[in-house]
This record gives sequence, C-alpha cells and structure tokens, in this order.
Amino acid sequence: MGLKEGKIFSRLVYLTKGTIMETLKSIIRDVPDFPKKGIIFKDITPMLSDPGLFQKAIDILKGRYEDKKIDRIVGIEARGFVFASALAYALGAGVTMVRKPGKLPYKTHRKTYSLEYGEDSIEVHQDAFENGQRIVIIDDVLATGGTLAACVDLVQNNFQVELVEIALLIELDFLNGRQKLDGLPLYSMIHF
Ligand code: AMP
Repeated sequence: MGLKEGKIFSRLVYLTKGTIMETLKSIIRDVPDFPKKGIIFKDITPMLSDPGLFQKAIDILKGRYEDKKIDRIVGIEARGFVFASALAYALGAGVTMVRKPGKLPYKTHRKTYSLEYGEDSIEVHQDAFENGQRIVIIDDVLATGGTLAACVDLVQNNFQVELVEIALLIELDFLNGRQKLDGLPLYSMIHF
C-alpha cells in the first residue's frame, strides 16, 4: 500500500522514510473531479487524522513564528480554522475567524470577490482586532489566491494591523495564486 492511501500511517513511518516535508507531501490525497469535474482536490484529512504528523506540521509553524510576537492567527473557513486554532494554542495567541456570510453573530465587515463563475463573500467581526496587532493569516491550500487576497483586503481595509505573514499548508504553484498577493510575505510548507 502506498502512502497516498493513508490508511496505516504512524510517527514511525516518517521517522524512517525521508524528510518530514516529503512525508507531509506524500500523505496529501488527490481526489479527482471534486467538487466538480476537472479539479484535483488536495485532501488533507489523512494528514489531520495522523496525530504525529499533524503535530509535526503545527510544530514547524510554531518554530517559524514563536519569536515573532504574534497576537492573532486568522483562520479562513473552514479548514483554515483547524490550523489556526492549533497554531494559536501553540503560540499562546488568539484566533480570529473569517467566515462565509451570515455565520458570524455580531456586526461584521464584508468583502465580496470574484470567482471563476459568479462571486462570493467573506466576513469578519467589526471588533476583531486592536490597532497594531501582529497577525498571521492561515489556510490549507493556496489555489488561485482569490480567497486569500479577499481576506487580506478585508483585514487591511478595515483594521490597522501588521500582517506578519500568510501561511499555507499547500501551494498549487501552477495556478500562480501568489501573484494575486502582491508580494506579501507568504510561506507554504508544501508545493505541488
Ligand atoms: P482559491 O482558488 O485560492 O481562492 O481557493 C479557495 C479555497 O478553496 C481555498 O481556501 C482552498 O481551501 C480551496 N481549494 C481550492 N482549490 C483546491 C484544491 N485543488 N484542493 C483543495 N482545496 C482547494
């Protein structure tokens, strides 16, 4: 059985085979034609369900940011929340949720952005940040970059915060999403 099946996977496997980045990369499962035909979906669930690997991924991010005085980790709905909460806990930072419209209970700021077909919106609470806070925005996958660019606009147009970095588990290099982010500091753990 190859690692892609992700069924039997343990700390022992990555300690004996290759580097941690290669191991993380190998456990990401390709799901063709999801959610629609022609898209190869990068499924991170086998990585999340391996306790040792998920911990290792968070530890790498913790090492990257622990001396950077980060106040807040901003997670993008929904898979971004998984990484945001674990990393915030590891750093002793807070979490801010950027959500789909109508999900946040208090007053919100909204950003609407274009998709391939139609448009979408994201929201954040109007009291989400205090001036001068140092933040990291995190999501699982950088594809076309539309969602992250909208998130950056949402935060920077409404708050005086310092964006220390945007962090991704996976960057799909062939989609050039990075170009949409105007040279902002961007760190991706794994590239396809
Ligand atoms: P983007 O095209 O960069 O705006 O991607 C929008 C969101 O869709 C991101 O938050 C990703 O989580 C998700 N996404 C886009 N393409 C993929 C893909 N091929 N595999 C997994 N998730 C994806």
